[in-house]
Amino acid sequence: MNLLEGSVGVEDLVLLEPLEQEPLLKNLQLRYESKEIYTYIGNVLISVNPYQQLPIYGPEFIAKYQDYTFYELKPHIYALANVAYQSLRDRDRDQCILITGESGAGKTEASKLVMSYVAAVCGKGEQVNSVKEQLLQSNPVLEAFGNAKTIRNNNSSRFGKYMDVEFDFKGSPLGGVITNYLLEKSRVVKQLKGERNFHIFYQLLAGADAHLLTALKLERDTSGYTYLNQKVSRVDGMDDAANFKAVQVGAWGGPLDCPRSPGFGFEKGGVELAPHSSASDFCSLLKSAMTVIGFSEEEIQRVLEVTALVLKLGNLELADEFQANGVSASSIRDGKGVQEIGEMVGLNSEELEKALCSRTMKTAKEKVVTALNVIQAQYARDALAKNIYSRLFNWIVNRINESIKVGVGEKKKVMGVLDIYGFEILEDNSFEQFVINYCNEKLQQVFIEMTLKEEQEEYEREGIPWTKVDYFDNGIICNLIEHNQRGILAMLDEECLRPGVVSDSTFLAKLNQLFSKHDHYESKVTQNAQRQYDHTMGLSCFRICHYAGKVTYNVNSFIDKNNDLLFRDLSQAMWKAQHPLLRSLFPEGDPKQASLKRPPTAGAQFKSSVAILMKNLYSKNPNYIRCIKPNEHQQRGQFSWDLVAIQTQYLGLLENVRVRRAGYAYRQRYEPFLERYRLLSRSTWPRWNGGDREGVEKVLGDLNLSSEVAFGKTKIFIRSPRTLFFLEEQRRLR
Ligand code: ATP
Ligand code: MG
Repeated sequence: MNLLEGSVGVEDLVLLEPLEQEPLLKNLQLRYESKEIYTYIGNVLISVNPYQQLPIYGPEFIAKYQDYTFYELKPHIYALANVAYQSLRDRDRDQCILITGESGAGKTEASKLVMSYVAAVCGKGEQVNSVKEQLLQSNPVLEAFGNAKTIRNNNSSRFGKYMDVEFDFKGSPLGGVITNYLLEKSRVVKQLKGERNFHIFYQLLAGADAHLLTALKLERDTSGYTYLNQKVSRVDGMDDAANFKAVQVGAWGGPLDCPRSPGFGFEKGGVELAPHSSASDFCSLLKSAMTVIGFSEEEIQRVLEVTALVLKLGNLELADEFQANGVSASSIRDGKGVQEIGEMVGLNSEELEKALCSRTMKTAKEKVVTALNVIQAQYARDALAKNIYSRLFNWIVNRINESIKVGVGEKKKVMGVLDIYGFEILEDNSFEQFVINYCNEKLQQVFIEMTLKEEQEEYEREGIPWTKVDYFDNGIICNLIEHNQRGILAMLDEECLRPGVVSDSTFLAKLNQLFSKHDHYESKVTQNAQRQYDHTMGLSCFRICHYAGKVTYNVNSFIDKNNDLLFRDLSQAMWKAQHPLLRSLFPEGDPKQASLKRPPTAGAQFKSSVAILMKNLYSKNPNYIRCIKPNEHQQRGQFSWDLVAIQTQYLGLLENVRVRRAGYAYRQRYEPFLERYRLLSRSTWPRWNGGDREGVEKVLGDLNLSSEVAFGKTKIFIRSPRTLFFLEEQRRLR
């Protein structure tokens, strides 16, 4: 069966004729409309979000893709997962799966499909299954705490995730490590119109039984909570109550707002939930499920208490108070709320009020306590809520890692899966978008280096003649952002640490001065200098011409967000809480620990974690999934030409095909190639005494394929996947 032929459009864009943007898009459109969402460019997989459950996943398909080589069946994410897993198991090559694309393009779903494929094919046995369950069930828990409805995606990951799955020498999973990147914590206190806070808040209110709600001192109605009180509180088609139970039972499934298809997930993962669980069922399910990952019953309760605390903090109203000396001060209006918080987390309510409404400054000689006005106190309250939530999230990730970690000293093979927020261009872009887009810029650099550049260099190394393909190297943009002394992040840090009056505008002025001549930097001022006045850009903005397009960033709060400082009064108050989890989240609140050393800024931390990630990715064999969002409305069947055009452009798909085509779709070292195909020629079968390269020349010469290939120094290069398929077919017929 050759599914490369007779199907819709070409399955590998390497075969596209003519090779231009329009036919490329047409091909994707044609395939998408026939529900063929996957297309290859050599070994890169393009996936166009179908926004519907297609009957192409599940055990039957997993079995099929396990038995065939890459080009024998239709393009599929399982084929890519299979190649990566087999190469890890049989050739001892660590792998990484890089999933990129913009928000809503299907990265998280793709990562789950890869994981479910690998889980299904990698080893058996009780011990192995329990590891698989733990690995897979981390997903719904992290999604509950780290995902939210945004305008673009009802289940948008608001954190980046990289998961290393570790295997033993036989290819059975041993455990793993999850690294999370920069949770978008501003969402805890503020969401854009049409967006929501993190899923867990709604799930908790809708799904907790009455007993739990009372214990947490919560009301079921979301409208009573300031931090949730936005225009939209339920996502269409999303059942928060059911999802809460799913989180608690750790049921591994599809996206939170999607009907489950049999293909999504690890078939036996999770504990089945009875359709109408009673309150007592709920408690026992809670216990059994979280124990799968390794949380104790007490830990789950503590996590929910801290989650509830965040909601309750948001409801603390602050009122103006005028002191006799005319200085404005503030106090908490709602005595009951502060009392409840105090009781729940074992915190003296007066201490909390003091911490929220005043600030202690230490000088060499004395402590000075200043009253905060309402605006400042509200700011302190929100900063505290954001900090509690993001530290809780980190704690959950660490707790999962504790459960799934592999003992030191064991020799491991590793498969990393990267699912990180896509490139973002919003109406109002702030610090968060800036770092997200920086990360995407770096990923594009990995892509360029590892596919395009690596490909060209390999031809040169192997002595294969070919014409060079020009591609845009985004190193210059990465440099603009990350250069150690003169990058935008370094400038931001410099402003944050500089004594004297600093503000977002002094930061911007610095950028304008430094980068006025940079090809990828624009601002109103620099544009003025070029006499290209831009009415669309505000005075507090700068613009970066990213590889993916131009993005205008508003510098408001850049300094603040980068500083990411919590008043010491607040961390000290939290540390004084009796609640063990809450207390452990604020170690710097311990007066004995309190050091004068300043913690690294948010930007510096992000930059160094991106650098570690890059190092990790470069050490592995990359497998690419390029996700494409077909329309802005999360609708099935709609293919918006312009939207896809922009994405194919910035994903560099056409360049990618050009390189692939100018080159060769497939390559392999002579020895394994000869071993596999020598039975196809009388010269090399049953016996061959010559060298590997000569053997391969004989086989291909006898099959009349010499013009389809090139002979490199150590490898054979095959131009078209069709040739490979032909060889496989011949092999099967023997
Ligand atoms: P973000 O960057 O915002 O996290 P994302 O790229 O991770 O976005 P996903 O959450 O994976 O996007 O996908 C968005 C939605 O698209 C999913 O919730 C699901 O409804 C749908 N979807 C994505 N991939 C598939 C698929 N293969 N089959 C069916 N539906 C899908
Ligand atoms: Mg996602």
